[in-house]
Amino acid sequence: MAKGEPVQTVDIIVPDPGPGEAVVAIQSCGVCHTDLHYREGGINDDFPFLLGHEAAGIVEAVGPDVTSVAPGDFVVLNWRAVCGECRSCLNGTPQYCFSTFNATQKMTLVDGTELSPALGIGAFAEKTLVAAGQCTKVDPSARPEAVGLLGCGVMAGLGAAMHTGEVGMGDSVAVFGCGGVGCAAVAGSVLAGAGTIIAIDLDDRKLELARQFGATHTINASEGDVVEAVRALTGGNGADVCIEAVGNPAVFLQAFYARDLAGTVVLVGVPTPDMVLELPMIELFGRGGRIKPSWYGDCLPSRDFPDLVDLYLQGRLDLDRFVTETIDLDAVEAAFERMHGGDVLRSVVVL
Ligand SMILES: [Zn+2]
Ligand SMILES: [Zn+2]
Repeated sequence: MAKGEPVQTVDIIVPDPGPGEAVVAIQSCGVCHTDLHYREGGINDDFPFLLGHEAAGIVEAVGPDVTSVAPGDFVVLNWRAVCGECRSCLNGTPQYCFSTFNATQKMTLVDGTELSPALGIGAFAEKTLVAAGQCTKVDPSARPEAVGLLGCGVMAGLGAAMHTGEVGMGDSVAVFGCGGVGCAAVAGSVLAGAGTIIAIDLDDRKLELARQFGATHTINASEGDVVEAVRALTGGNGADVCIEAVGNPAVFLQAFYARDLAGTVVLVGVPTPDMVLELPMIELFGRGGRIKPSWYGDCLPSRDFPDLVDLYLQGRLDLDRFVTETIDLDAVEAAFERMHGGDVLRSVVVL
């Protein structure tokens, strides 16, 4: 696979796990925008990539020193295996770990060419090699297609509201962009006890999805001034927490201005390197509050995944609703096409 070329299904060699590593038999893996960014060379040029990173599966083998998981464990894979030793870990904030890690050994093509696993996971495969810390054990009665999505986009959205935005009981929240991450931010706001939850998008189908996840109001951004519309729904003040789930300067500015004084703006949408934000500095100063980027929803997988899976099993977090369709491994390219269509939250490969 080279930059921009369609994905291919090929044989790969997965080494036996060494110290600190685990081999996981993949049961499901969601198709995420980040996989497409890798394919298009938007992340780096380390082709060939082994794509896929929103996965659940069964641990098949572990390295000699691994005690955190064992063969047979049902796990959700994460891309935040924390080191326990960096400044942030030692400060008691491992969710910001500056030195997360992946497997040491490389998976390869049959000719020996080293593969670059997407986000250090590479789960569009029957088996993958990861660091044992990337495996989070959860309740095995959960449906893999649903809970595997906690491995990336859904966790990013839930955490943007619950962790980064610190949405509290009765807060008003506005979510800008209602794809998988935005809808998860809506669901996270519900779990956190938000009062008014306003979903904003250009596509009415996505707004309907956001309603199903618990949005109390929707705004189609093509139909007028979004900032005024948010203010009108929040007593003229703006929302306590505005969550930007697009990664676009114009949308970020809407979120910035739709926020109440001293409120919080969360940026969970991923911008591209060419994007520039222009903002009068006096507005930044004068409005107070907080501007917080959110990587992976500031989650700590070992803390959050088991709890969220329990909420799912109790019927309080509808992860099934994110699974628009299940597909075969060789249908990933077609799923990339549908991603742009607007009516797919997640296509999930089932192995
Ligand atoms: Zn660390
Ligand atoms: Zn992802």
